Amino acid sequence: MKTKFIFITGGVLSSLGKGLSAASIGALLKTRGLTVTIQKLDPYINVDPGTMNPYQHGEVYVTDDGAETDLDLGHYERYLNTALSQKNNTTSGSIYYKVITKERHGDYLGGTVQVIPHITDEIKNAILSLAKDEPENPAPDVAIIEIGGTVGDIEGLPFLEAIRQLRSELGRDNCLYIHLTLVPYLRSAGEHKTKPTQHSVKELRSIGIQPDIILCRCEEPVPADLRAKIALFCNVDKDAVFSAVDVSNIYELPLKLYEEGLDQKVAIMLRLPARNAKLEPWEELVHNVKNPQGRVTIAIVGKYVELKEAYKSLHEALVHGGIANRVAVDLRYVNSEEVTAENVAETFKGADGILVPGGFGYRGVEGKIESIRYARENNVPFFGICLGMQCAVIEFARHVVGIEEANSEEFNPFAKDKLIYLMTEWYDFRKKAVERRDAESDKGGTMRLGAYPCAISEGTHAFEAYKTANINERHRHRYEFNNAYRERLADMGMVFSGQSPDGTLMEIVEIPDHPWFLGCQFHPEFQSRPMKPHPLFKDFIRASCLARKK
Ligand code: GLN
Repeated sequence: MKTKFIFITGGVLSSLGKGLSAASIGALLKTRGLTVTIQKLDPYINVDPGTMNPYQHGEVYVTDDGAETDLDLGHYERYLNTALSQKNNTTSGSIYYKVITKERHGDYLGGTVQVIPHITDEIKNAILSLAKDEPENPAPDVAIIEIGGTVGDIEGLPFLEAIRQLRSELGRDNCLYIHLTLVPYLRSAGEHKTKPTQHSVKELRSIGIQPDIILCRCEEPVPADLRAKIALFCNVDKDAVFSAVDVSNIYELPLKLYEEGLDQKVAIMLRLPARNAKLEPWEELVHNVKNPQGRVTIAIVGKYVELKEAYKSLHEALVHGGIANRVAVDLRYVNSEEVTAENVAETFKGADGILVPGGFGYRGVEGKIESIRYARENNVPFFGICLGMQCAVIEFARHVVGIEEANSEEFNPFAKDKLIYLMTEWYDFRKKAVERRDAESDKGGTMRLGAYPCAISEGTHAFEAYKTANINERHRHRYEFNNAYRERLADMGMVFSGQSPDGTLMEIVEIPDHPWFLGCQFHPEFQSRPMKPHPLFKDFIRASCLARKK
């Protein structure tokens, strides 16, 4: 097997930035000319995070092939600058689902089905599926596997057991264990503390995994003598303990880890070809982020204001739009439930652009519509994404076309004028979505998910941004624009600038008689990369900068 595996586990506590560390290591190896993929193994029992509450799980990321995944896949795609697939995220739930389905089919021939070997075998299959060598899809040089959760969690045990077994099956030169832990700095004592790391590694070793590399998350670099101490107590090479210091900008992390020599050590231990990392693009990126030529303020009107994780990709895409325009983007989260006709002007004072992101359910919708009306009537650049586009259509129908009861079937199934509705052709989508996901379920797979083509009309804001007529963008929604109202809206100036190639689905709407007013049914934020900012975000920020100057 050509592919070498790096397994990343986490210790002491969660939220140490395992996902970003995995992504950064992947990016560094990529700059050494290697092909890399990254997989997230999530120990929870949900089959996928698609039905999970954003308060618990944060953003649900969507891949081209329509998988609803952990938000870490967003980091991986942004850092590797490649599209991943449903293979790159597996949960305990999906593993158990497979095993139980097989058991019901009688595939185990009456044998007792157990965590070891049946669950662990299925986990190994999921990991090894990344190393499949196909003519159109060659196996990567390196596959990084991030195990969600923290060592010591009961639910994570089968995953750890699976990766333990893989090392003996694939050999030492082909598998590497990296353990990310916390090395806190105790101000009162004036020193770093290594005990939590020692305990965490002890826990890991008790299940048979001896880490090769220890990555210490810390506020300040861990001094050499303490790194030597960690190496001694944790039984790793002296030069295999690294600091992962807090960074002011997440795109600095690959450079910091490079300075530490982490990629070098990984390459030596895995016997990867000795090539130099080409870091110029990352250096340039960080330079641009740190040296903006101006600032712009974007108001994001949503209902998860206190929960930035719910808008992770959106946040990043706006930062990327800023990078493309050499400006820093200040984000102001506005709680849509609090916006009223009375306070809207006050709320958006100082905002150079207004963005209404995706969402589900009626709560907060009227505030979003109020915000959109303000943007439209006051020439403030406006960007509506998914639910944001649907709200823009409803706002336009109500206040410009005069369809007072314009609504979405989602918000009021009995509304007289359902501008946004569940279409009959929907069943085809559902079928397609389900086929693509290879699984039928009650709640999962009921949405239009993944990348679909869209044709853009020339002479529109959208065309100006994309500079091409054919695009592919990722979707995650149930409802669509209702074509019965298309003419009435078009007559009053709404342009349907992006449509499905067969012309049945309205994917982008805009108002030409406005500095920048655009809504899209898809989620462009999922395809924005720091090195390749998404055209719509780039153009929205450009328009917001112009609005600011006026
Ligand atoms: N709730 C809307 C729908 O299902 C929009 C979804 C979204 O914004 N992602 O169509």
